[in-house]
Amino acid sequence: MLDKQQGARLANLWDDAKAAGMSEAERLLYRSNLLGSDKRITNYGGGNTSAKVMEKDPLTGEAAEVLWVKGSGGDVGTIKMDGFATLYMDKLRALKGIYRGVEFEDEMVGYLPHCTFNLNPRAASIDTPLHAYVPKVHVDHMHPDAIIAVAASKNSKELTKKIFGDEIGWLPWKRPGYELGLWLEKYCLENPKARGVVLESHGLFTWGDTAKEAYETTIEIINRAIAWFEGENTAPAFGGEAKPALAASERVAIAKKLMPVIRGLISAEEKKVGHFDDGKAVLDFVTSTSLEPLAALGTSCPDHFLRTKIRPLVVDFDPAQPDVEKTLAGLPEAIAAYRADYARYYERCKRADSPAMRDPNAVVYLVPGVGMITFAKDKATARISGEFYVNAINVMRGASGVSTYVGLPEQEAFDIEYWLLEEAKLQRMPKPKSLAGRIALVTGGAGGIGKATAVRLMQEGACVVLADIDETALENAQNELAARYGKDFVRSVSMNVTSETAVEAGFGDALLTFGGLDILVSNAGLASSAAIEDTTLALWNKNIDILATGYFLVSREAFRIFRSQKAGGNVVFVASKNGLAASPGASAYCTAKAAEIHLARCLALEGASAQIRVNVVNPDAVLRGSKIWSGEWKEQRAAAYKMDVDDLEAHYRERSMLKLSVFPEDIAEAIYFLASDMSAKSTGNIVNVDAGNAQSFTR
Ligand SMILES: [Zn+2]
Repeated sequence: MLDKQQGARLANLWDDAKAAGMSEAERLLYRSNLLGSDKRITNYGGGNTSAKVMEKDPLTGEAAEVLWVKGSGGDVGTIKMDGFATLYMDKLRALKGIYRGVEFEDEMVGYLPHCTFNLNPRAASIDTPLHAYVPKVHVDHMHPDAIIAVAASKNSKELTKKIFGDEIGWLPWKRPGYELGLWLEKYCLENPKARGVVLESHGLFTWGDTAKEAYETTIEIINRAIAWFEGENTAPAFGGEAKPALAASERVAIAKKLMPVIRGLISAEEKKVGHFDDGKAVLDFVTSTSLEPLAALGTSCPDHFLRTKIRPLVVDFDPAQPDVEKTLAGLPEAIAAYRADYARYYERCKRADSPAMRDPNAVVYLVPGVGMITFAKDKATARISGEFYVNAINVMRGASGVSTYVGLPEQEAFDIEYWLLEEAKLQRMPKPKSLAGRIALVTGGAGGIGKATAVRLMQEGACVVLADIDETALENAQNELAARYGKDFVRSVSMNVTSETAVEAGFGDALLTFGGLDILVSNAGLASSAAIEDTTLALWNKNIDILATGYFLVSREAFRIFRSQKAGGNVVFVASKNGLAASPGASAYCTAKAAEIHLARCLALEGASAQIRVNVVNPDAVLRGSKIWSGEWKEQRAAAYKMDVDDLEAHYRERSMLKLSVFPEDIAEAIYFLASDMSAKSTGNIVNVDAGNAQSFTR
């Protein structure tokens, strides 16, 4: 049986009142967003929609028939008006006159820009001819799990006929492109009553005379497939359960152990970010008797395997007799074997003009009884790859229940993966940023220096875990950074750095969210001042707890992760001028800061052989945005200097050698330098960012 989410029918969300005042192009946008809002209708970025609309030609002022079609690289669920390409239909039809046949179909892509209407800069996609040549006004092309389950069944032609009769046709597998557009046209002309067509191993085309009719046909056809599977698939999915899933807490504990080790093994060329999914669809598959044989067949819809690689790696783990250490010990060999297998696939299938072999590592790691781990160049890609594999699982579930599931033939898969047009798209991608794929944890992450540091690291492409004891500030900081850089790049954890369990839990959360760690910025702090005879034991201990013990605890946890990843590591301590220079009336603070600096030197020594670097930034008098400077401390310092609190910033500026104020962004810049490869040959160093202070010159 399909699971609950799969089993539920798609709702018809069309609202006549909403659509009434819209232009035809706006109705296309409306319909696209409705269709893309449900992953059962189409996967992220998959499928496309179109409408043939009469527009006023900007050159002649006369009416011209224009194809509006989702442009290259968009997603129907989130597309906006500028995501559509617009092309003259008469020019698209004229292309038939210069088509030289199927072996030259790729060259037709080069002619599409010549058909552009109204100088629209949105590039037309490879699927444009598929929409242009279907002789219908409104056309939807979707990748619904339930339809691909039909399309990926061994007898998909028969099944299509059985479920839909003559209403929906069937075309054999053909790579999307110009030729497939001509096939679709031919099919429509020969079957004028058909409402759509299933494309083998791929997806669905449906159409209508109005936007509403096209939308409702698409929903109706998918629902019919869902209902049919519900009636047919009554046996347990995937041949039934082989071994039950572990409890949720155990699954998470195992994922946290596996992720950094896998990440270390596959990040030699490019740092990867991970994602973990142990939802119902995944668990049904990774506990089943069919896991190994079905996983080996690979995915079917081209969109699925472009994201997930031709097949996943099934990790050797027995949930009935869990032995994580044994699994970890076997990973290097398993991953090397996957790479070797991928290289053989490349060699078997490559053509004379194929691009060079790409990263041979698996994207999807299936752990029996535990779940699915995915790794990619960034979090969003890893998450979306996981979603695609869930689509593939749904497809295999449907197909294997009623027929025999078939993956795409290997050579066809290769030709799409290494398609020259696909390669050209990759070549056009911007160069990765300097911290792309890096994962950082910043303590005191919601405060002035901490947040400025997170911003600086995120600007360079890093994923950041904000750790802070102030939960309100933490939530605000996370929301602010998510809005600026995307929610996939930032995570927050409530963390009291003096609590061993809180530190372990916080790092564990970071591991499960992103799959590893590259950078620790230990910045959580406080400040206090009191004459020695007035310093209570509680005040003394508070300074030592946060600034010495807290830095020890977070460093120890980071070192543990770095050592399991075996890919180096980077620690930056935010200390203080007062760790080097004695200051009157602040002995607890100065002593704790000195301990912190010495801890950094000890760790630099200890980490060097594992390429773990540890450095220190010494700020001085960073008032702006600082929580430390917002309360008593500010008043105490002002009182000590016998001045108004508002004059403090000027006081510190005048006291500095360079006569400059120091801001959180200045500290963040030094942290970024030490956390990046620009300082790859520095460890055990101290960088003062204090606008010059002779007392704190290092020696
Ligand atoms: Zn498609």
